[in-house]
Amino acid sequence: MQRLNRPYVGIPTFLRAKAVDDIATLDASIAVLGVPFDEGSPFLPGSRMAPRALREQSLRFAAGNGIYNVEERKVYLKEEMERGLIADVGDVDIYPTNPEKSFAGVTDNVRTIIARGALPVILGGDHSITFAVVRAFNERIHVLQFDAHTDFAPVTPELRFTNGHAFRHIAAMPHVTGLTQIGIRSLRTSPEQIRDIVAAGHRIIPMDEFSAMRPQEVAATLPEGTRCYVSIDVDALDMPLVPGCVSAEPNGMSYAQLRDALRAIAERLEVVGFDFVEVNPTLDVGTGATSYLGAHTVIEFLGHICAQPRWSARRNASLR
Ligand code: MN
Ligand code: MN
Repeated sequence: MQRLNRPYVGIPTFLRAKAVDDIATLDASIAVLGVPFDEGSPFLPGSRMAPRALREQSLRFAAGNGIYNVEERKVYLKEEMERGLIADVGDVDIYPTNPEKSFAGVTDNVRTIIARGALPVILGGDHSITFAVVRAFNERIHVLQFDAHTDFAPVTPELRFTNGHAFRHIAAMPHVTGLTQIGIRSLRTSPEQIRDIVAAGHRIIPMDEFSAMRPQEVAATLPEGTRCYVSIDVDALDMPLVPGCVSAEPNGMSYAQLRDALRAIAERLEVVGFDFVEVNPTLDVGTGATSYLGAHTVIEFLGHICAQPRWSARRNASLR
């Protein structure tokens, strides 16, 4: 008998995808990997609980085969869900008080996902994890970061791996051809960080500039077909939308602004992987609104990536 599978029933994998225990045997086009790590949070911890919370909220979208967008009268992720092309590969093992070891596990896992031909979709965790994801790629990529903050703090022997350092490491990686930071607005940003980012030839699109641009103009800052990795800090969204985020800032993006920019990026550029970070379920309201918004963003962005003509070739190549 067909299971009814209400969202609160059963074992929560992302979008009720098949669970894959041994990542080395992965046979899927998309691999969802959790990184329940928040030792990079210098203020309030708790984002380690986000992969689980995002999976839980994703079940609310998992009732049918595909995601129906009523405004467009269009179904997204139909083939991916129907044919079981999404795999949930579980979480990276975390070694408390040994971040280098935990980060090494992140890189290993993402490398295996890439080697198996699947698109890595990473659920953080705080933003410190992104450098360990990006260093797993061995091709030249541009990195797009949606964030209220630059996360470009100077690296010192004492402070290296907080969520404020990740993009200093990423920008210095030889295979990263450039960095574009979108939605920057925090008053806690130092002029030195901005100076260093600009001096290194990277691009900052502050919130006011982003708001004045059409979504297609944001994507058009890069040549058509550029292979890029996208990192989404939930604090790119406006403060009232994200009660479950410790670093929320006022005057951020509406959901539609973020969604439309991500869609334009999926249409113009070749997205080779993405992450969604900084949801903190321990701070969230009772409805889990921030986790819900996180699952919503991941599912909608994934839907747009998989709706592109270039995706079908990639999808077929990933299957064994
Ligand atoms: Mn960040
Ligand atoms: Mn941030």
